Amino acid sequence: MNIEDLRESFLGGKVSPVDIVDSLYKKIDEDDLNDFITLSKNIAYEQAYLSEKRYKKGDILSETDGIPFSLKDNFSVKGLRMTCGSKILSDFISPYDSTVYERLKRSGAILIGKNNLDEFAMGSSNETSFFGVVKNPHNREYVPGGSSGGSAVSVASKHSTFSIGSDTGGSVRQPASFCGVVGFKPTYGKISRYGLVAFSSSLDTVGIMTLNVSDCKKVFNTVRGNDKHDSTMDDHINEKRDLKKICFVKDIPHADLKVIKKYEEICSKLERMGFSLQPINLDFIDLSMAAYKIQTMCEASSNLARYDGIKYGLQKFSGDNLFDIYSKVRGEGFGKEVKRRIMTGTYLLMYENGRYYDLSFKLRDYISNSVDSIFENFDMMVLPTSLFLPFKIGERVDDPVMMHLSDSLTAFANLANVPAISINGGYYEKLPVGVQFVGKRNDDDNLLDWVKIIEEEIKKDG
Ligand code: GLN
Repeated sequence: MNIEDLRESFLGGKVSPVDIVDSLYKKIDEDDLNDFITLSKNIAYEQAYLSEKRYKKGDILSETDGIPFSLKDNFSVKGLRMTCGSKILSDFISPYDSTVYERLKRSGAILIGKNNLDEFAMGSSNETSFFGVVKNPHNREYVPGGSSGGSAVSVASKHSTFSIGSDTGGSVRQPASFCGVVGFKPTYGKISRYGLVAFSSSLDTVGIMTLNVSDCKKVFNTVRGNDKHDSTMDDHINEKRDLKKICFVKDIPHADLKVIKKYEEICSKLERMGFSLQPINLDFIDLSMAAYKIQTMCEASSNLARYDGIKYGLQKFSGDNLFDIYSKVRGEGFGKEVKRRIMTGTYLLMYENGRYYDLSFKLRDYISNSVDSIFENFDMMVLPTSLFLPFKIGERVDDPVMMHLSDSLTAFANLANVPAISINGGYYEKLPVGVQFVGKRNDDDNLLDWVKIIEEEIKKDG
């Protein structure tokens, strides 16, 4: 059930938050999709019990009171294990609450558990997790996308009503597309990153996964807004206005024809709704991939330096000297993909005094300016979320180049700091196909309002 329906049922006394928690844990167990790393049963039952009391008294805290949700396991919850999908943090207990969790807790929502993810949010298939691959509920032989694969699966399988993920280059939108749910990445600075483990700090955003856009708005309103713990916050929002001009992307190299077919269907639907779609070219896509890779690898190599076995990460090793301890801890604690990125990032930062990192910022400016100039003429852009449909588990693990292509249509929104949302555009042979809408910087509320109407129209036709 979505937030609205669930609330109605609570208000009508049909079910109680405690009943819901009972049934969710049963379903998580039965479905066996590996979408959770840690279940927070003690917290959930305590929160559900309190919420139930509030509903009985008519003392409801907010729209999300009693609503079960989950967090990607790179958000901290005091006293609960936070692994980031990595062996290196497999026994780490968070000492404080992330702002997102703190706000949701205050709203009366119920934490069901922490979702599986690609290790340190690096990946596009959830196959890099130390805790094993997550299965796509639409077909268990397929990946759920990544890195917020566990979050997407938990929403798609109704294990939680919504989930909070992180999106650095597409990690909320791409798995949303692969699992047939909504995935929203706001403009950088709208939701606090305090308590989200850093992967690439200049691109990391907190994202929301829900069953529909209306729920997404509710959750966004609960967690958004300034936070003294995050100095990169900016709550400026553009004024409300009507959607007039939409552009679509004419040529999408490397895209699967099945994706293009669905995309064209959605574009025709928008035309039938009365919009005249104008073509644009995204000729900066290749450059955006280069900028994205360089920035994320450089920033990751620096951010992940803290896992040294002294303050964080596998404190079980001793050695003759510091170097010895570092190599044992990091050698054993990190997986292949994370190592690949740390090593490439370290090299890029070393080479000619970080010339590549500096250059990547120039590229980023260029991409940002190109995106801004598109939004001088248009209110919104529509494009596929992913070049391809979900692929089979194991099919691409040894092909990092192909895997990295997964972010082609999503990473530019992070580089340009603009909001973007993926919704389900239909199915192809029972596998979901996502469609993405990108808005102007700070148009987060407008984008959600516009896409809500489009989503309703798409759903009408089934
Ligand atoms: N798939 C991308 C990557 O591996 C996106 C990651 C993310 O957004 N966290 O870098």
